[in-house]
Amino acid sequence: MRPEASVTHLDLDAFFASVEQRDQPSLRGQPVVVGGVGGRGVVSTASYEARKYGVRSAMSTREARSRCPHAAFLNPRFHAYRDTSVKVMEVLRDVSPLVEPLSLDEAFVDLAPAELPSYDDGDVRALAEEVRARVHDVTGGLTASVGIGTSKFIAKVASELDKPDGLVIVTAGSERELLRPMHVTVIPGVGPATSERLRRAGISTVADLEAVSEEELVRLLGKAHGHGLFLLARAQDDRPVVPERETKSVSVEGTYDTDLTDRRLMEGLVSRQAVSVAERLRKSGLSGRTITLKVRLHDFTTLSRSTTLNAPTDKGPEIARLARGLLGDLDLTGGVRLLGVGVSGLADWIQDDLFGDDHDEDDDEPVDELPDLPDQRTWVPGMDVEHDSHGRGWVWGAGRGIVTVRFETAETPPGPVRSLPTDDPSLTPWRPPTT
Ligand SMILES: [Mg+2]
Repeated sequence: MRPEASVTHLDLDAFFASVEQRDQPSLRGQPVVVGGVGGRGVVSTASYEARKYGVRSAMSTREARSRCPHAAFLNPRFHAYRDTSVKVMEVLRDVSPLVEPLSLDEAFVDLAPAELPSYDDGDVRALAEEVRARVHDVTGGLTASVGIGTSKFIAKVASELDKPDGLVIVTAGSERELLRPMHVTVIPGVGPATSERLRRAGISTVADLEAVSEEELVRLLGKAHGHGLFLLARAQDDRPVVPERETKSVSVEGTYDTDLTDRRLMEGLVSRQAVSVAERLRKSGLSGRTITLKVRLHDFTTLSRSTTLNAPTDKGPEIARLARGLLGDLDLTGGVRLLGVGVSGLADWIQDDLFGDDHDEDDDEPVDELPDLPDQRTWVPGMDVEHDSHGRGWVWGAGRGIVTVRFETAETPPGPVRSLPTDDPSLTPWRPPTT
């Protein structure tokens, strides 16, 4: 832990939904739900307007629809999220070379090399406000919540305290007081399993945890995890901000001798894989935000589908539900020869000795969240389109041979809605020009 508050955690607010509201003017101020829109889809991000109705990430889209039927339900547009993320990371790298992205919408920044006149509250606050204003600028109006503290742990806790559009600086020396009343799950690495084990030992707050000896914690949770928790309960965290962290993931996959065609069987296999991924995460004190399903079809086409949560998970049933949701959106009629489930975007606590050589065969390739380009004639809600005479817009819905499009972009006022035949030759999917 350092003597001054110079570790920053920046987290864009309701990121995917905010990008949709920026790009689709008719959605501003409206409930927006981004995620899998199919029958078994799962919510990735809900706008704050939708959260008022109890819509949360990781909830099934079906449940979200029943809570907030008038929300816009959109497929993710990862190209837009990536472009926006790149701009935010550039702003951060202007402040300090030590930027560690955790996901598209979240990063740690070490202010130590930022050449601040001092690390007094006033100077740090002025810099943070400037960063927030620049992020707002370069993203076309998105807000970020920022937390600053003497460690990664404290910075991350701080950024959650005043969401959305907040800035919280936890001054050196006040960390333990801040943490004491909080639930133990505030500590990185304390997922549901650890939390339950602690609960059975009568430990629910950080203050409770602080009262337990290191020997007792090691007995309860094992050497590495027990020792780590003992330190974190005292706000002792000296993890450095590591720029350009490598993508890590934990995954399990299986290949099958005969092509699988029975969906129930596939769901069962995927669920079992999810449970073993979760076990490995928990054993390692990790949790992750991006759940990926890998499927190899009978013709050896390999598909990968991902969904990203707002908060990391290490829960088997949750990972299983998300993975089954991804499976449900795929056409698998030809048969399947490989299934795999992975979790990435890991929130690591005990990061060093987990991915030794003996784990290499399980480490997946870096997860690509970009869904494959849909067929020319498949119109899914949220996708960008362009029409020869109406210009650019996005798909509101499609069915029975009709696709409904709202023709508007970030640069236009809310635009008109038009219903067109799904085979209208003037309508094409729109992709940003690749530079
Ligand atoms: Mg966020």
